[in-house]
Amino acid sequence: MARLIPERFNLEDPEAVAFCTGCGAPFARLVEACVTCGSEEILPRDELLVRLEAQQDESRALAEPVELIALPTEAEAEPVRAALEAAGIRWTEQPDVADGRLFAPAEPALRFFVETRDLERAEAALDETAPPDL
Ligand SMILES: [Zn+2]
Repeated sequence: MARLIPERFNLEDPEAVAFCTGCGAPFARLVEACVTCGSEEILPRDELLVRLEAQQDESRALAEPVELIALPTEAEAEPVRAALEAAGIRWTEQPDVADGRLFAPAEPALRFFVETRDLERAEAALDETAPPDL
């Protein structure tokens, strides 16, 4: 099944009991086909919610996460994201929270996690983004 684009669905619309999975058009009743894009994949609201949630869990969860790198600033995180994206590696990011620690880190940090099996590839991808030593 095609990946849903959550932003397309206006779930705030109280009249909408069904949505087109193709273009996100809302319907006040369950219709056979979308009048906007012609798609026949129309889902009732509750099914759509289940699908969206399942999809979100899937994109968030890594089977065997391992920490790749921790970065102090958002600016430094950008090239890392670009490198991982280019290498086709899935990752998750977590803010480095100070909870449960004796000393809070001096600066906020972003921690990147990748699948254990992707770690070597991810490290190689990051090496390529590092500025060459002069
Ligand atoms: Zn449609």
